[in-house]
Amino acid sequence: MRDRRMESTFSTEHLPIQVRLPEGVRCVIALSYDTDTAGGYAPDGVCHGRTPPFLHEYMLRLCDTAEQYSVTLHFFQIGNGLEEPRVVEYLKEILRRGHIIDSHTYSHLALTTDDVTRLDDELVLTNELFKERLGWQSTVLRGPGGYARGLDGLKANQEVILNNGFQWVSGRYSHRLYGQDQQFAIEASKREPVYAYPTGLIEIPVQGYTDRTWFDGIKCIDPQTYGAWRVAHGHQPVPDGWCCPWTAPDALDEWIGYNLSAADFAYENRLLWIPVWHPYSHYLHDPDNRMLPALLQHCAAKPERVLVCTVRDAAQMLLP
Ligand SMILES: [Zn+2]
Repeated sequence: MRDRRMESTFSTEHLPIQVRLPEGVRCVIALSYDTDTAGGYAPDGVCHGRTPPFLHEYMLRLCDTAEQYSVTLHFFQIGNGLEEPRVVEYLKEILRRGHIIDSHTYSHLALTTDDVTRLDDELVLTNELFKERLGWQSTVLRGPGGYARGLDGLKANQEVILNNGFQWVSGRYSHRLYGQDQQFAIEASKREPVYAYPTGLIEIPVQGYTDRTWFDGIKCIDPQTYGAWRVAHGHQPVPDGWCCPWTAPDALDEWIGYNLSAADFAYENRLLWIPVWHPYSHYLHDPDNRMLPALLQHCAAKPERVLVCTVRDAAQMLLP
């Protein structure tokens, strides 16, 4: 959907929210993954939640890594995936292991949609699927796609989200990153604050580069090859030893460097940082799972405590 609203740094209708870091914690990194079988890797461009086994394996590897550091991971799941028993089984395992799953709508519908009735239907249906299939209630909603102005001015959309039991939404994503240098992205945790809409709904914005933006946008050196791969091989497992042909060779090393720098910036400035990653992007671009251990190790080595937690945990630190 085309978003005709202009992006502004801070709208006058935003109500400020104070972040209260827990006692003894120098900074907080609220990391989450959108588990999408992404449209950006699909032959037909359709994004859905019916995740294939190769992604389940990768997500469980991420859980293994997180557990070594006593970190809880947070996954946002598209509701239509819960109609497949094998997806439900692996999601149950993730929950059994103590990680968190929340709603990413039923069909990856933009929360800024003009069709507010459909938005309502999708949130109701996904809540029901979560309850029936997982015995679980979603409390934080991740907005599919990302919106430069969040839900500013969309009172009806905000109310539908609140009425479906979500006090927190995470969908704002600044488009001002494009064309700026890396330092600009590193400083997103300072520039793009959490805020409340006039309805009371709280926005927890996505801050800095996502892995999709990085590997398939900024670091993409061969869009034609990328497009051809999508059509021929998208949504299928890649062979062992496969090396992504459309991304610059140094992309993963630089991705790790960027994230460690963003963590350092949050540490120096005592901030909450909210990065969003995707298992599918890491499966393709980080097949040996280097990023997550690098971040967790980096944080664990800091002299003062860095709390790597879920978006739900971060929501509990927000004071209107
Ligand atoms: Zn998504």
